[in-house]
Amino acid sequence: MRVAVLSGGVGGARFLRGVTAVVDPEDVTVVGNVGDDVEVLGLHVSPDLDSILYALAGLADEERGWGRAGETWNALEAAGELGGETWFRLGDRDLGLHLVRSQLLRAGVPLSEATARLASALGLRCHLLPATDDPLRTFLETPAGTFPFQTWFLERGHRDEVDAVRYAGAPEASAAPGVVAGLEAADVIVLAPSNPYVSLGPILAVEEIRAALERRRVPCVAVSPLVGGRAVRGPADRMLARLAGGTTPAHVAGCYVGLIDALVLDEADAPAELPAGVRAVVTRTLMTDDEARRRLARDVLDAAATPA
Ligand code: GDP
Ligand code: CA
Repeated sequence: MRVAVLSGGVGGARFLRGVTAVVDPEDVTVVGNVGDDVEVLGLHVSPDLDSILYALAGLADEERGWGRAGETWNALEAAGELGGETWFRLGDRDLGLHLVRSQLLRAGVPLSEATARLASALGLRCHLLPATDDPLRTFLETPAGTFPFQTWFLERGHRDEVDAVRYAGAPEASAAPGVVAGLEAADVIVLAPSNPYVSLGPILAVEEIRAALERRRVPCVAVSPLVGGRAVRGPADRMLARLAGGTTPAHVAGCYVGLIDALVLDEADAPAELPAGVRAVVTRTLMTDDEARRRLARDVLDAAATPA
């Protein structure tokens, strides 16, 4: 079974560990978010692609929830002593990856090719693709002003309520090589339990990707990132409450109108009334360990295989 997964960082990466445990990773294509990519200390950082790289390579710090395990912080500390920026936490090992990627990009290698090289060096067998090689950046409009994603999320601790989300560069962005082919070759398409606005939104803002989903001939299943109406982590619930008017499964499904055939939601959110054409699949969606991740992945793929 060939599977294509649209994914943000941490929630998506957790889910992908389950998917690549229950299907051959070589049959898995991951389309990752680049809307929160950022330049730090002259280096190109792709936080969501990196969360996926580290999680699938078994290098992620599971306790902290981001970055690499066994990390040290000497370079950032030295940069700070020299007056350099330290608001974006980059560990020593993590920096190694950003150095290599930045050098490739500066030499004219597209992000998709740079990502493929990093993935291969880390032993990944699935196909990890950025949604686009073009510059696409998420901006949040808030009562305090409009901020680039990382300024809003990290510097301001996502405390500002969001009135609107903009994806700068999206109208001109092409899907990265392999993305549309990966979606067209898939037997099932999955939207990971990622933030609908700031993780999957930027991916779906690429017209070629949205169009590929709209004309799909295979099931597309989304996994809700909410459990009991609350985000497991991060601002997804607050954003849904303000931008969609609520945090029920219907509000989550409403983010993907015309794009999904089923929504996998947690027992804590059942029973659910979903928009016409979207089937509810109820299971436990909290990915606390390997077994829970595998079970969720199996449930999602089974849901896709079940006739409507
Ligand atoms: P980010 O780019 O690092 O913010 O990661 P994502 O957008 O991929 O994932 C963030 C979302 O994952 C949040 O909205 C969380 O609620 C959701 N999430 C994290 N862990 C779990 C889990 O175990 N189960 C479910 N259903 N959602 C989760
Ligand atoms: Ca992210």
